[in-house]
Amino acid sequence: MVRLLPRVALVLGILALVGGTAFYWRTSRTSAPTEIAFSEFLRHVDAGRAVSVTVTDAAIDVALKDRRIVRTVPPPGFFGTNAAFVTDLARRGVLLQVKPIAPSGALQYGPIGIAICFMGLLGYAVYKTTSGRLPSMEGRARTADPKETTVRFSDVAGVDEAKDEVAEIVAFLREPQRFQAVGGRIPRGVLLVGPPGTGKTLLARAIAGEAGVPFLFASGSDFVEMYAGVGASRVRRLFRDARKHGSCIVFIDELDAVGRARGGHSLSHEEREQTLNQLLVEMDGFDETHGIVVIAATNRADILDHALLRPGRFDRQVTVSNPDLKGRNEILRVHLRKVTAAPDVNVVSIARGTPGFSGADLANVVNEAALLAGREGRSAVTTADLEAARDKVMMGAERRSIALTEAERVNCAWHEAGHAVVAAALPQADPLHKVTIIPRGRAMGVTMQLPEIDRHTYTKEYLNTQVAILMGGRAAEELFMEHMTSGASNDIERATDIAAHMVCEFGMSPLGPLAFSRKGQEDNRARQLSEESSRRVDAEIQAIVMRAYDRARSLLETHRDAVGALATTLLDLESLEAEEIASLLERHGVARRAH
Ligand code: ADP
Ligand code: MG
Ligand code: ZN
Repeated sequence: MVRLLPRVALVLGILALVGGTAFYWRTSRTSAPTEIAFSEFLRHVDAGRAVSVTVTDAAIDVALKDRRIVRTVPPPGFFGTNAAFVTDLARRGVLLQVKPIAPSGALQYGPIGIAICFMGLLGYAVYKTTSGRLPSMEGRARTADPKETTVRFSDVAGVDEAKDEVAEIVAFLREPQRFQAVGGRIPRGVLLVGPPGTGKTLLARAIAGEAGVPFLFASGSDFVEMYAGVGASRVRRLFRDARKHGSCIVFIDELDAVGRARGGHSLSHEEREQTLNQLLVEMDGFDETHGIVVIAATNRADILDHALLRPGRFDRQVTVSNPDLKGRNEILRVHLRKVTAAPDVNVVSIARGTPGFSGADLANVVNEAALLAGREGRSAVTTADLEAARDKVMMGAERRSIALTEAERVNCAWHEAGHAVVAAALPQADPLHKVTIIPRGRAMGVTMQLPEIDRHTYTKEYLNTQVAILMGGRAAEELFMEHMTSGASNDIERATDIAAHMVCEFGMSPLGPLAFSRKGQEDNRARQLSEESSRRVDAEIQAIVMRAYDRARSLLETHRDAVGALATTLLDLESLEAEEIASLLERHGVARRAH
């Protein structure tokens, strides 16, 4: 229904426009006064046939005794130089009116106004049906002057390998002759591959900045239009601009939006194919002498059309991954340079406490910390600010305003205590960092663990542990509250997801080391499942989750006291930190782990 509305509006708009125009023509034809010569007008007045004279800005309308209305245009400045004419009219008993816009004029403009309104409505409907993409033929490539591209390699931290790999492009752009003299061929296209927020756009800008060449930015999604040919024409325009600049960087973000392998069934697939072909044509159409380097970014290199990756196109791939401990340290320092930080800020401890954070997340942490310090009227960012900002970025902002009923608070406390006790009792679990029943983001409460190391691979036991911890919340509700709430829905979703990965991708079930594609998941790498295999996959996923649930439940029964004590303390204090949790649980029989 919601999707239908704009279409209905579109049809109505067109009807209204046609109707409005017809109305305008009719009224303008019937009510427009006959034009007469000025001399004829003077004769009418002389002969006493004029009843009223209406002077407007541009014309004089005259109502005659025979009910006709005629119009004439006076010579410029006529009334100014012939003031006597006016008194003459008055003496003859002719009604004289002066109006900025004559009533007949208003009649004329009315329909135009209505038509304009309808055009607006029509435009709005088109805008809606095309989901905000107006069918403009103009390219949306935004160009930055070399002087504006102030990003340097020093602004991009923690991705040293990627920087090394693109360094030669900078060298080439600076001194193309040197490379051409020895017959070297510089890559025409470089594909930056990596998860969101790792600094791909930043790196591309830095290449332009270091080389001192213009940076032309376009996003793959700009090229995907529902109108055939628009995307292709935008690509053409982008490269026409690039050729005008001579040496430059053309950056195409989200390349996968246009570069998906061909042969899908999506509606816009023909259009995308045209756009993709245009891109291929353009990339083949310039040579090294142009000094144009095309850089594209994607987080899904595996779904790109192979034609894009052939020699002479994006034949160089550079991986940009999430930073490790050292990288996070460097990225935090880059961003801390931009704010006022206290001299004793412990950057290393923050870097250690942010495994899995992307460069963008870390930039966000520093920014949030600065806002926090500012809000509290302090002049420098402290370690505590950074820690609070880290928690906020990780768990979502606290929402103290949301009013929980007492029953919800109690349930939440036991639920979180359940997660925490399972996590504390299982040897493979990451250490607990914080447990809170202050609502954050969409969650009523949060149990937060912090891995002590960067994990690149996961053992089967670690994953089973994760699923068990996720089940701890629901298990506690059932055991101690004797009911279930919807509060566990996100836990359940995540647990199912981990279990599915274990079965379908990691080969960690009795089905063996095979890749299975799950129903409803777009994935052309894995085999499509038969009805029978699909049932077995589902059964194995279920088995993993159920085993984890039973494990969580029996752990909670064993540590009944600890769960109770933690829940009660949470109701009291709302938030507990790592050390407080460890000592409380230790007092109730959950041994502290040696870390
Ligand atoms: P991507 O294009 O990979 O999604 P961006 O380049 O748009 O990531 O990164 C967004 C922001 O995050 C950057 O403007 C920068 O402030 C910060 N950032 C990301 N990666 C890094 C990095 N490696 N070094 C410094 N800052 C980074
Ligand atoms: Mg980006
Ligand atoms: Zn939970």
